[in-house]
Amino acid sequence: MMKTIQRNILLNPGPATTTDSVKYAQVVPDICPRERAFADLMKRLRSDLLKVVHAPEDQYTSVLFCGSGTINIDVCVNSLLPAGKKILVVNNGAYNSRAVEVCEMYHLPHINLRFSVYEQPKLEVIERTLQENDDIAVVYCCHHETGTGVLNPIREIGALAHRYGAIFVSDTTSSLGMIPLDVVRDHVDFCMASAQKGLMAMTGLSFIIGRTDLIKASKNYPTRSYYCNLYMQYDYFERTGEMHFTPPVQTIYATIQALKEYFEEGETAKFARHRAVYEAIHQGLDALGFETVIDRSIESGLVVSVKYPDHENWDFEKVHDYCFERGFTIYPGKISTTNTFRLCALGKIYPQDIEAFFKVLKEALDYYQIKL
Ligand SMILES: *Cc1c(COP(=O)(O)O)cnc(C)c1O
Repeated sequence: MMKTIQRNILLNPGPATTTDSVKYAQVVPDICPRERAFADLMKRLRSDLLKVVHAPEDQYTSVLFCGSGTINIDVCVNSLLPAGKKILVVNNGAYNSRAVEVCEMYHLPHINLRFSVYEQPKLEVIERTLQENDDIAVVYCCHHETGTGVLNPIREIGALAHRYGAIFVSDTTSSLGMIPLDVVRDHVDFCMASAQKGLMAMTGLSFIIGRTDLIKASKNYPTRSYYCNLYMQYDYFERTGEMHFTPPVQTIYATIQALKEYFEEGETAKFARHRAVYEAIHQGLDALGFETVIDRSIESGLVVSVKYPDHENWDFEKVHDYCFERGFTIYPGKISTTNTFRLCALGKIYPQDIEAFFKVLKEALDYYQIKL
């Protein structure tokens, strides 16, 4: 019998609250991951991941990596740029800035096209940049900027990239498995995520879903990393069925269970559940008199950035600790110009959990005599 594990409500942007069945899926007999039985599991997993983003098997493949989600950014940026070409990073926040930092670290020619973190990037500006720079081979943009909660118009950005002969890479780490994504319809050549966010599995497994022909073409591009090279990992999988280096074995078992639960819940129902949680977050904030930062019409429906109340007794750490001790985790903001914290709708949580959270938050405000 499975023992029930204390259920914490994580309102941080991943890792997310998981089911006990996903937690227990990790408790398995010891196995060497070089066994065929394990390769078979990964083969199924790679193919199921394609289904989450409606990627046709004959055009797309998925490549697994052991690491947190940032490994995907590193891999895509360093592996997909041909010699003498540039990458255009459409940048309206912290996660797009991370791709810029990867470019800087590898000394890659790039354009850091900056936009306000409070807004969606402007398509006219992206188009003009593509017109003026015919050496852009890769356009990069995050789907959901987790730092603010802004959802970016990736379908339009992808279409622009393709119109100007570039490939489109989107960091979908905090949207994949939560907001429906169709890589063909959305003009996405490469997307990515880690298992602990939308799929509600555990940390340590990350994956890139992308066009097989482009990965094969990248074999001849300049190599910039040994451990984080996309073609090398893809090729190793294709030849042996294994990850080049040791995989996160237990996380893979958890992800297989999480995907089973993902398909059982269904894309549409899961999207609606996250939405309902998001609505409950806004309702609770409104009722207490908190102010949010991003216009709701451009919010992803997964992350809400909340302004610190303008009251002398407000202390994020104290409120965090009060909630944490009662099973609710709130998370600091990531906007350098405004003091914010974040409430997120990831994970296996429901509107009732949010209602329970707001009771506790209200208690915390009363306890510390914070007036809004
Ligand atoms: C979580 C996240 C990542 C990965 O962050 P890690 O700390 O490496 O797990 C990358 N991009 C986005 C948009 C994210 O939300």
